[in-house]
Amino acid sequence: MQNIKLDFELLNLETADPFGISYGTSSETKNILVKLTHEDYYGLGEIAPVNYHGEDFYTALAVLEHFKSIQILGDNPLAISKIMDKMDNIISNHNSVKAGIEMALHDICGKILNKPTRSILGLSDRTCPITDFTIGLDTLEVIERKTHAAIKAGYKILKVKQGTSYDKDIIKRVRSVTKELPLRVDANGGWTVKEAIYMANFLSEHNVQFIEQPLPKNSSYENFKTVHEQSPLPIFADESICRASDVAKLGHVLDGVVVKLAKTGGILEALKVIHTARAFNLEIMIGCMIESSIGVTAAAQLASLVDYLDLDGALLLANDPYNGVEFINSHPSFKNLPGLGVLKKI
Ligand SMILES: [Mg+2]
Repeated sequence: MQNIKLDFELLNLETADPFGISYGTSSETKNILVKLTHEDYYGLGEIAPVNYHGEDFYTALAVLEHFKSIQILGDNPLAISKIMDKMDNIISNHNSVKAGIEMALHDICGKILNKPTRSILGLSDRTCPITDFTIGLDTLEVIERKTHAAIKAGYKILKVKQGTSYDKDIIKRVRSVTKELPLRVDANGGWTVKEAIYMANFLSEHNVQFIEQPLPKNSSYENFKTVHEQSPLPIFADESICRASDVAKLGHVLDGVVVKLAKTGGILEALKVIHTARAFNLEIMIGCMIESSIGVTAAAQLASLVDYLDLDGALLLANDPYNGVEFINSHPSFKNLPGLGVLKKI
């Protein structure tokens, strides 16, 4: 059998509006398209590196070049778990690169077996939650405009970014547009313990479902414990939880976790994170980075296993080059295609 061929190229994505979170604002994202070829089949994946997880476009390229030079993929695309172990043994972290390759392996396997990836995983016919839509950091005027636009577009749950000096004003401005829509709040690590407890009390009076990543990524167990004990709202961790071992470290002082393929290193480890989180009785949200429909559709394969979806990465784009999962009235709707079910737009 021939070895699986690994190719990759720049996937330049522009957001419809500048997208602001507590780490910074950008309108352009440099992701990487992964294309694997094996005999008559090809698979697509997407690498979405972010600097707050110690990666960027150039580190991702370097890791890819190395994996390519040692022909790490071998000749059997169905050996996904073994290939992932090999990558982990060669280099730790760099999970977005591993995720991009793994997505493409699942895509190619689905095409070989002529079944959608989620069916191969045993997840056919389960219902999925609806996705929220994110309002990024910006001026209060722009936040008000974006909130109006999101409601007009029919989104039923909004996720509001926080971690600024004017967080309360942001919430008040969003609430001046809509009193009813449930909100989720994501501080992206922007608060101290004291600020997190203060804000949790404020947010609990504004119909907020939960708070995501109130404390910085590497915050201690003790700090999460303090916030968890004193917050009237559920506390979810995103940046602090990459792999299943991280759930084991913080699981007792959280109410939920956010799973993203770019953090887990792919679908198989995402399943481990999900099952570990359930063992701790945690709720689970699946999220994504700024990604095209390739990355979002790969993550959506697991949507039926979780409580909440934050899969708006491609909805925020001005130029999504791919078709994949669609959100109809915020509900994920899959194409009945083998593999991930993504196609290049023509
Ligand atoms: Mg988050």
